[in-house]
Amino acid sequence: MSSTVVDSPAGCTQSERLEVLFEELSELAGQRNAIDGRIVEIAAQIDRDGLVGITGARSVAALVAWKTGCSPHNAKTITTVADRLEEFPRCVTALGEGRLSLDQVAVIAEHAGQGSDAHYAHLAASASVSQLRTAVKSEPRPDPEPVRDPFADADEEPEPAPVPRPEITSTCDADYTYWRIKLPHEQSARFTAALQSHKDRLIAQHTRDHGTDPTGDGDGDRGVQLPPWPSAGEAFMELVEAGWDAEATRRPHGQHTTVVVHVDIDTRVAALHLGPLLTDEERRFLLCDATCEVWFQRHGRPLGTGRSTRTINRRLRRALEHRDRTCVVPGCGATRGLHAHHLVHWEDGGDTELDNLVLVCPYHHRTHHRGLITITGPAHQLLVTDHTGRPLQPGSLARPPTTPPPEVNPYPGTSGERAQWKWYHPYQPPPPTSNN
Ligand SMILES: [Zn+2]
Ligand SMILES: [Zn+2]
Repeated sequence: MSSTVVDSPAGCTQSERLEVLFEELSELAGQRNAIDGRIVEIAAQIDRDGLVGITGARSVAALVAWKTGCSPHNAKTITTVADRLEEFPRCVTALGEGRLSLDQVAVIAEHAGQGSDAHYAHLAASASVSQLRTAVKSEPRPDPEPVRDPFADADEEPEPAPVPRPEITSTCDADYTYWRIKLPHEQSARFTAALQSHKDRLIAQHTRDHGTDPTGDGDGDRGVQLPPWPSAGEAFMELVEAGWDAEATRRPHGQHTTVVVHVDIDTRVAALHLGPLLTDEERRFLLCDATCEVWFQRHGRPLGTGRSTRTINRRLRRALEHRDRTCVVPGCGATRGLHAHHLVHWEDGGDTELDNLVLVCPYHHRTHHRGLITITGPAHQLLVTDHTGRPLQPGSLARPPTTPPPEVNPYPGTSGERAQWKWYHPYQPPPPTSNN
């Protein structure tokens, strides 16, 4: 660089002015680090106290992105640190005191081994984010992460049986039914491929509806208003639906085998056919946009089916699609597999007509019937709120500050020196004490 010295109007040289700007940057960066540190603590506290559920948000990261107006990627960075707060006390303290940046600590929290807090707190004091990344990568990994088949069973006994056959079993508790599928490897490979192709299709559809997953990590914490990024679970249900549809078209009248629900008229207790009792919310959800078959009964004696009043015929459905176009929850925009939701449930005398119906995506439909959001009609004056009754809006909580910024020392920045990896000793995890 040439040493041109140009006098500024204020009588300072360019380098002097730069010096002043750098000082301010350093001060601001320190304050920002400290503020990020506090946000991380708040995220950890929300998580610890299990407060996410009451907000209608899907995850702490979704809540942080929503309430601070930051990107899902940034929110993920915050929760990555929050998740390992207790494991990295030195690094987190340095963040709170403005000495390390959020990104520096996040690289450590994301991949560094257990017990490495002191090692990285020391290193980070002079290392850039990318240098830290290299350092973390050079940690020896004694057991390379096994490629996990999500349906594999870790503690399955090795079977002596000569011909392995697929097996499927299930158990259930109050909230879920748990399926366990055991497949010989070659069948498992086909299953995995089929699942993946359905997941790919769901993702393509999701991308068309909502844009790409900005975090690129596939889990898509995309704010409370968007349905979650398609998972293997949803892909599995797609696989089931597709097989079911194909089967239905092969049969003479092309009708779908339906989910059968028995409802006691007096007590409104519902149960799946030959299955568990349903909670109120499950019953209302299943019976809302019913592709299921409902059998009414009184004192255990069947009275007949009750499909006629609540069936949405093709004309009504078209009119609905024409009016709503997408899921009606603000900011959602899903267009696929929408359910027609009864604003006043037909159990409560709600009509199956245009003004009492709105289209919602399956995710928000379930969220509503679980009481995490409310959707109140009539359809032409729709109000969607979180469970505390506040209208759902995509905006953040950010407002001009009313308190002074945290008093911390200016952030000195990283040294900018070329790293001498030759002399760097990666963190050595202690030898494992158990198999886990
Ligand atoms: Zn509904
Ligand atoms: Zn939706």
